[in-house]
Amino acid sequence: MSAIKYCSSCASEMILKPFENTNRFFCTDCDRMEFIDPKVVTGVLFTINSEVVLVQRNLEPQRGKWTFPAGFVDRGEKVENAAIREVFEETGFIVELDKLVGVYSQEDDPIILIVYSGHIVGGVRTDNSEVQSIQTFPLDKLPVLAFDRDRKIIQDWNN
Ligand SMILES: [Zn+2]
Repeated sequence: MSAIKYCSSCASEMILKPFENTNRFFCTDCDRMEFIDPKVVTGVLFTINSEVVLVQRNLEPQRGKWTFPAGFVDRGEKVENAAIREVFEETGFIVELDKLVGVYSQEDDPIILIVYSGHIVGGVRTDNSEVQSIQTFPLDKLPVLAFDRDRKIIQDWNN
């Protein structure tokens, strides 16, 4: 868990203290409790000619490995719109969402990942700086995936 160092109210030092079966950051002066919000990431699985569209990451972590188009949801942004936006930014394709594949989270991980299945309704494959490459893969010949959970998510989608 990343630390909150200073109180947003009085700027005094924060410390981690037990609270309701977990630990929370409290101000050493005014006793304000601060929360660290999770980060929401959303992505879309879709195909071209029955092959899944994956992108090769151009950023750490896992630069050079493959995953499906995904990215952070902005505060105030509808999750479905963020998913569609991320696909467009990373691939140039315009997708429509069909259904929710799943919501993925794990202990001590700040990321909540919300994955949809979708299909292409427009756009063209467009190279950009966020990814090294955009390619399609048969489901039985996936490349080296960036994240452990990607394989399970692709299985969930395919079932
Ligand atoms: Zn304070």
